[in-house]
Amino acid sequence: MPELPEVETIKEDLRELVVGALVERAEVLHPNLVEGGTAREFERRLSERRIVGARRRAKHLIVDLDSGDAAVFQLKIGGQFLLVPPVKEPKRNLMLVMHLGEERAGERLFLRDGTEFTRARVLDREGLEERLSELGPEPFSEEFTAEYLKQKVGGRRAQIKPLILDQKVVSGVGNIYADEILYDARLHPRRKANTLTDGEWERLAEAIKKNLAAGIEHRGTTVRLYRDLLDRPGDHQNHLRVFEKQGDECPGCGGRIVREKVGGRPSHFCPSCQREDGESGGADVRLRLA
Ligand SMILES: [Zn+2]
Repeated sequence: MPELPEVETIKEDLRELVVGALVERAEVLHPNLVEGGTAREFERRLSERRIVGARRRAKHLIVDLDSGDAAVFQLKIGGQFLLVPPVKEPKRNLMLVMHLGEERAGERLFLRDGTEFTRARVLDREGLEERLSELGPEPFSEEFTAEYLKQKVGGRRAQIKPLILDQKVVSGVGNIYADEILYDARLHPRRKANTLTDGEWERLAEAIKKNLAAGIEHRGTTVRLYRDLLDRPGDHQNHLRVFEKQGDECPGCGGRIVREKVGGRPSHFCPSCQREDGESGGADVRLRLA
């Protein structure tokens, strides 16, 4: 599931390997891909256009065109961008292909998604601004601090895990990183936001930044489907402590990691290190970056 670090990695790959190229022709291969317009219009607005930039906002991948339009992709669960060559041409589960032109004739950028949940739209500047206007701050922005979090949601009785998954609260966190973040911050996923102390808000803000930064450093987390532009898995799955580790020993206290649904999402945590009553238990198990 591409979250902030995975989309960031794909964006950086696009900047390095694709930006500057001319899209000779775009071909929509799956009827569900395009939202807010027809597949034909999407193809028309991408074709014979130069890609002049790649950006990320929250989990949105934004491809800027020389017309001033932007193609915005939400990779949702299993969306992958693949550059052919060097990657071997994928044959199945294709949703879009962009044929590159000029000196890059023969190269193609494929969008593959076996889950078929990836969605795309092409927007002008105003449309893009409006589309992104409701998103919460980027975790690495100056605006995003413990104080911001406390002001934004500290009065709510809602559980903390669904709150950090809410893209209007903070951009880019999904289910994998949320579990790792809460483990780092020693917060039970069901803790009510209005019971957190100042110190806990600090730990939470710090854990959000640190875990997402580590995910970027490791070029993303490949639990199942995530691949970079050259079809390579990320490495951050080798650094996870709780996500899908139910039954394993907690690296902090030696207790058992459990899996329970919280806010409808499978959640993984250590009930000793992340006490629901908020009493701090367990050792300091925060992620350390090399
Ligand atoms: Zn523990």
